[in-house]
Amino acid sequence: MNGDDIIHVDPGPGALTQMRNIRYDLTRTDSVIISHAHPDHYADAESVIEGCAFGGWKKRGHIYGSVTVLKGQDELGPCISGYHQRIARDCTVLVPGDVVEIEGIKTEICRSLHSDPTNIGFRFHTPDGIVSYVSDTEYTPEIADQYIGSRVLILPVTAPDGMRIKGHLCTDQAISFIERVRPEVALFIHLGIVMIRTGPEQQAEKTEKATGVTTIALRDRTVMDVGEDIVFHEALVYEGEWIPDSSP
Ligand SMILES: [Zn+2]
Repeated sequence: MNGDDIIHVDPGPGALTQMRNIRYDLTRTDSVIISHAHPDHYADAESVIEGCAFGGWKKRGHIYGSVTVLKGQDELGPCISGYHQRIARDCTVLVPGDVVEIEGIKTEICRSLHSDPTNIGFRFHTPDGIVSYVSDTEYTPEIADQYIGSRVLILPVTAPDGMRIKGHLCTDQAISFIERVRPEVALFIHLGIVMIRTGPEQQAEKTEKATGVTTIALRDRTVMDVGEDIVFHEALVYEGEWIPDSSP
């Protein structure tokens, strides 16, 4: 989010329900970014686009995605139907090395090492420093070095300790990653089932001890405010019916 402009990144399964739970009106969304063609990153993207475009009544929203997400490549994607690409105001395919302006935020597109070879990561140049979203990747020093200068590093740490999974990060690789980037805060997301059973908080603590970098394992509906300080709080959750008063 940048002022009134709202960017939705990787709306995976449950995104729509979670938005409703916190009473976030999807017609406020201006841009949707989808890093790659795996359902844990795109499953609710079309629903988010529907919300953004008032169910197709208004040509609205800008979709940014990898080659697989918007065009399809080999057996991956496209993940957004032609209809949904048409109800958006604009669609942009992103590849590593691109530098684009997304809702007023300069955004650099980074390379990753994943089973979707077109998968991309992002460096968002916010007014209060660089916030980086590293999408699914393996660790190499070259991958990590792309994020040097980040104030906030959002890392998908799927597995605990040294449990290496092809195309993903485990805690020990996250430690190497963070040691190279040295952000102000590192955040663990994309926690796998073994990670959740092992204890993400304890894995974050292990990482913080090893790197000296504040590390937090994020839970659903955590809100981060990046200003002079970086602060976190839980979004309010509401029960019951809700009809937003927005109209096209
Ligand atoms: Zn993936």
